[in-house]
Amino acid sequence: MDLQTLLSKLEGIGPTYVHRLERLGLRTVDDLLNHFPFRYEDLSKVRKIAELGDGETVTVRGEIWEVGTIRTRVGKFLTKATIQDGSGAIQAVWFNQPYLTKILKTGRQINLAGKVSDYHGSLTLVAPDYEIWNAGRHTGRIVAIYPETEGLSSKWLRNKIALLLPQVLPKVEETLPEEVVRENKLVSRRTALQNIHLPTSYQEIEEARRRLGFEEMFVMQIAAIIRKQTWRGQEAPKLQTDQEKLTGFVGSLPFNLTSAQNQVLKEILEDLNKDRPMNRLLMGEVGSGKTVVAAAAALVAQANGKSTVLMAPTEILAIQHHKTLEVLLKGAGVNVSLHTSSRKSDPGDVLVGTHALLGQKLDFDNIGLVVIDEQHRFGVHQRAILREKAQTPHLLTMTATPIPRTLALTLYGDLDISVINELPVGRQIVQTRFVPPEKRNPAYQFIREEVQKGRQVFIVTPLIDPSESLSTLKSAKEEYRKLSEEVFPDLRLGLLHGRLKSKEKDQVLVDFRDKKFDILVTTPVVEVGIDIPNATIMMIEGAERFGLAQLHQLRGRVGRGKEKSWCFLFTEDESPQTISRLLALQNNHEGAKLAEIDLQTRGPGEIYGLRQSGLPDFRIAKLDDSDLISSTRQAADRYLKNKHPLPRSLKDRVEQLNTVASAPD
Ligand code: ADP
Ligand code: MG
Repeated sequence: MDLQTLLSKLEGIGPTYVHRLERLGLRTVDDLLNHFPFRYEDLSKVRKIAELGDGETVTVRGEIWEVGTIRTRVGKFLTKATIQDGSGAIQAVWFNQPYLTKILKTGRQINLAGKVSDYHGSLTLVAPDYEIWNAGRHTGRIVAIYPETEGLSSKWLRNKIALLLPQVLPKVEETLPEEVVRENKLVSRRTALQNIHLPTSYQEIEEARRRLGFEEMFVMQIAAIIRKQTWRGQEAPKLQTDQEKLTGFVGSLPFNLTSAQNQVLKEILEDLNKDRPMNRLLMGEVGSGKTVVAAAAALVAQANGKSTVLMAPTEILAIQHHKTLEVLLKGAGVNVSLHTSSRKSDPGDVLVGTHALLGQKLDFDNIGLVVIDEQHRFGVHQRAILREKAQTPHLLTMTATPIPRTLALTLYGDLDISVINELPVGRQIVQTRFVPPEKRNPAYQFIREEVQKGRQVFIVTPLIDPSESLSTLKSAKEEYRKLSEEVFPDLRLGLLHGRLKSKEKDQVLVDFRDKKFDILVTTPVVEVGIDIPNATIMMIEGAERFGLAQLHQLRGRVGRGKEKSWCFLFTEDESPQTISRLLALQNNHEGAKLAEIDLQTRGPGEIYGLRQSGLPDFRIAKLDDSDLISSTRQAADRYLKNKHPLPRSLKDRVEQLNTVASAPD
């Protein structure tokens, strides 16, 4: 037997179990060894029966006094045993396992581990794990609790793994370079696998987890550094800053740049002024003014005779960017053109478009700068294609998704990061309220008053159409009908959702901006970047369906003008978790903070948009573990700097990561 042996080939694992194991994604011996416990129970302390109390989780050790199985009135089997250990006796019960009487015979010495409860008036171990004395696998020790599936218990997994470990551990090879193990005081892979499954102390668990998590993160860091080196190894056109033009441009703006904007612009211009391609991520809160920074960079490219491509995630946004950039750059003599699936104009100095640009035969040779807005909306693949087509231009990606810094460093280890960490002066905080159901009508009344003052309102629903299975969730179409007919028959309402044709969507937004209606009922398609300064209320239905970062983005659609603005959060789910998340949004106006809460409560995959960004599935490493992130980064840097070749198994995994990250769709 070796690590690649199929579990189906092992003795004692029949088709039923093979099937169940597959449900957990486990096919080979190696898979099973890498199926890690998610918690442990400390059953190491053997307790005296006489001293047990209600509610405790314990191990007891004693002799079976009597045992028997009866049929209950409802036809179920109930196995009862009495165990005594010299200090006293306790009853144990099991349900529907009549075969137990074959194992638990009177007079046998056994260990029982489980929870003491009051069962029909007497202290009882209910369905405890049992073990014949001294085997020490499920009782009398720290035991591993695994992710389970129906019909596949932790006990079963523990048994199989405990049997396999001594046979296959000698075949487990060290995957990390020996010096990395030594310098970082890690335990060997063998030790880690042994101890994560069958620990004899909590310290062993800790060391095993540290080692395994280190490995996961180390691979990721090596991959990122190699990507960075490859990118840096290429040539790019050197774009010198035309200071006069730039000063003229900045002076023409109707506002002063914030010092954060000035700082990131400086970082970007320094990058452009090199003959190595820039690869920079610009992170900045909604409304922090990233577009104007990108415009300044495009201006510099144009002054060097190079064009800029700006890619937006949706057509609506592309159109908006096109308009904004036209206004910003016209005075500087820069042409801006728009290119989406439904409209094409002649290429200009700046070409704004959606991913439809990717399919185009454009003059990619002359592109000096590629800007990707809301980059998390694009797959890694799309970015790679664009980069490839325009032979290594400078690349600026922008995002308003507030990614915690630690996560950004991990996810985008190959990028340089610039942050705009302040909003232009005078921006107001959007008053946010979690609204309980009984306050719905007063909220509608409030909306009506705002509309009478000439303001506009967004009402966001999670769905487009009503859903049968999610019947409490509101849909845009149904809400639009209900609100127009019953709640606001005298007001003007519009409807927007992702299934409208691009032209129709644009028309709705243009009409809304031109105040042709008061209330826009919409799905979250309005989330990113839409700028309607007269809108002062964002009402969100089914708020529990959205991540905090996404809610924060939606909230950013209002509060863009001078008027005081509100965000109302509605939910049918009044569980404590939901309420506490919504209160976090109410009390917190900093995107990065909210993203951190999201990361802690829902995990990285749930953070809006990160699923598609090529994030590997970490089993042990925590993405918010900044110590781990920096120690693996250092270790990876040092290792590569010493020009040591990668061990085979590492190399394969790094290559795999980097192929996924750059493969075309
Ligand atoms: P985001 O970073 O979310 O993309 P935008 O670039 O759309 O933000 O900018 C939001 C609004 O703020 C725009 O109307 C823009 O003109 C304005 N703006 C940008 N920078 C400043 C500034 N320094 N002072 C005042 N307003 C600014
Ligand atoms: Mg923007």
